[in-house]
Amino acid sequence: MTTTHCPYCALQCAMHLEPGQDGTLTVRPADFPTNRGGLCRKGWTAAEVLATPGRLTRPLLRKDRSSDFDEVDWDTALDYITDHLTHLRTTRGPDSVAVFGSGGLTNEKSYLLGKFARLALGTSQIDYNGRFCMSSAAAAATRAFGLDRGMPFPLADVGSAEVVLLAGANPAETMPPMMGHLSAPHLIVVDPRRSATAEQALAAGGTHLAPRPGTDLALALGMLHTARADNLLDTTYIAERTTGFDDTWRSAAAWWPEHTEHITGVPAHRIRAAARTLARANGAYILTGRGTEQHTKGTDTVSAWINLALALGLPGRPGSGYGAITGQGNGQGGREHGQKADQLPGYRRIDDPRARADVAQVWGVEEHTLPGPGRSAAELLDALGTPTGPAAMLLLGSNPAVSAPDTARVRDRMASLELLVVADFVLSESAAMADVVLPTAQWAEEHGTMTNLEGRVLRRDAATTPPPGVRTDLEILNALATRLGQPTERFPTDPDTVLAELGTATAGAPADYSGVTPQRLASGDALHWPVAASGTATPRLFLDRFAHPDGRARFVAVQHRPPAEDTTTEYPLIATTGRLMGHYQSGAQTRRVAELTEAEPHAYVEVHPDTAARNGLREGQWARLTSRRGSTTAQVRTHPQARLDTVFLPFHYAGAQAANNLTNPALDPTSRMPEFKISAVRLEPAPHT
Ligand code: SF4
Repeated sequence: MTTTHCPYCALQCAMHLEPGQDGTLTVRPADFPTNRGGLCRKGWTAAEVLATPGRLTRPLLRKDRSSDFDEVDWDTALDYITDHLTHLRTTRGPDSVAVFGSGGLTNEKSYLLGKFARLALGTSQIDYNGRFCMSSAAAAATRAFGLDRGMPFPLADVGSAEVVLLAGANPAETMPPMMGHLSAPHLIVVDPRRSATAEQALAAGGTHLAPRPGTDLALALGMLHTARADNLLDTTYIAERTTGFDDTWRSAAAWWPEHTEHITGVPAHRIRAAARTLARANGAYILTGRGTEQHTKGTDTVSAWINLALALGLPGRPGSGYGAITGQGNGQGGREHGQKADQLPGYRRIDDPRARADVAQVWGVEEHTLPGPGRSAAELLDALGTPTGPAAMLLLGSNPAVSAPDTARVRDRMASLELLVVADFVLSESAAMADVVLPTAQWAEEHGTMTNLEGRVLRRDAATTPPPGVRTDLEILNALATRLGQPTERFPTDPDTVLAELGTATAGAPADYSGVTPQRLASGDALHWPVAASGTATPRLFLDRFAHPDGRARFVAVQHRPPAEDTTTEYPLIATTGRLMGHYQSGAQTRRVAELTEAEPHAYVEVHPDTAARNGLREGQWARLTSRRGSTTAQVRTHPQARLDTVFLPFHYAGAQAANNLTNPALDPTSRMPEFKISAVRLEPAPHT
């Protein structure tokens, strides 16, 4: 029996994998501080993905996209790739090749992928799918606290609070074991939807505030206004531990609850009541999720919630705080080790001369050979195949043909590449578009480390071996790098060797992993970073000082502004997207699990019965939704508590049922995160496609 962690979300629930006599593995929940012996439906069925019928075991190659793939041997596939990459780099420069990574990759892979891009390819054109889900919270936390670690405290701390405000997060659906930590506090759920979390909060006597989509920044300002009007701010904390309150107060001064009601639709008396409940609590947390982030003002929206937390004296204080709930399995570690366009390992900026010099020394290269910052994910995808953009892309652990906003456009861009290489274990929608597909090992077939939503580094162990013919991502990077002229030892294939190098490369950095060793991981140490080689881990950050040079947190004055597009008579409804309990991200894994697919076989649109009727629809009928970018089809599920002006779609489905056919690629100016949460659409009956 092997004890390891779930392949999916950032809770990283622990599980035992027990081998049966037929060689298959059975999942049993294991005790761990985040899941406390619980698993969700996805976790229970995780072993099925290992035996998926469509598993790739040989590289696939086609020299003409109009023809089918041929199975080839590894040398043929790798030679084909490196010949093309070498030609492109020679004739058009290193930035003609792009790399696209994932918040699902282990820390070791994230690190080596960034190194591969900068050294083996020499390209600045690398980013990853975490830009779609956590970059706004990361940007807001960095500017407020000087450092971004999603939850700067153990998740278990939250359960002892009197009140927890959840803004734009639906853990009852997306990571159900987390709700075990939220059973005692009074929950204030801020979500335009009557989500599963909102239902649970109400059933337990909590609060659900349902602002109009895209207005929770205003709601946070209104709550700050109330707290100040009622003299509920922590003025000592503000004076001693923060700067910038006066400007922030000026930005909130006009947001008296009646004005806030006008913008948000939340009644003024409920805004006052929620603000008072939060401010008077003996221990309170504010936790934000994707609902706050996936907007063109996502960074500012998270800042507004952080401002409220700071004004109430919550962050950096035992028993209270602010945290962002990371979504992807390694959404935290994946944004720390260099697969982001603007970043070097250790959560350092690529334009920081000292970080460049440190990392160049560890990598054994001259600092000036390291490229500078590149394009962010959505901008990178939009530049593919254009005269000034990359002509080739290497894609690992991601499926942007389904998960990127305005997928028709992204698919067009991907189709215009001269070379698309996808490393995956199944023929995902993105892999199906590729010229070369490299079959990779899966989560329980190799070991490596992940960093969960609390900044805790943990080890995923191998419970089985990959099928013959399959290679690990590290082996693929090594093989490509070696063919591209790099010394083979520069790209180790052993995860422990990569982890040791990652530790050296991050020593002294904000996200210091130099004390993360296989021995300490095996001993069960709670290794929340930073963890220096000679030091202890850091479960709770900011208790004495924040990470800005003066030790103080920053208020950031922000203002409400409308979304990138508004509703019109042609597109009269707002479509918002999110996740289901039974599926994960683009669905490339979970749509291959029979039990999950039977439970949620196809896309649906959640809509108020009156809205459905107004558009000629009823429960169970198929609907077409159309935005300015494209259309999708989904089965109608009416919900009497749905907003009349808003419909909800899960984004796990592909092709004609892809919610991202609708979504808006307009970007937050700071985080470069697309506005997934607001698309103006029309709704009409459609035949089932
Ligand atoms: Fe736990 Fe998330 Fe896996 Fe569900 S998907 S079992 S919540 S780690």
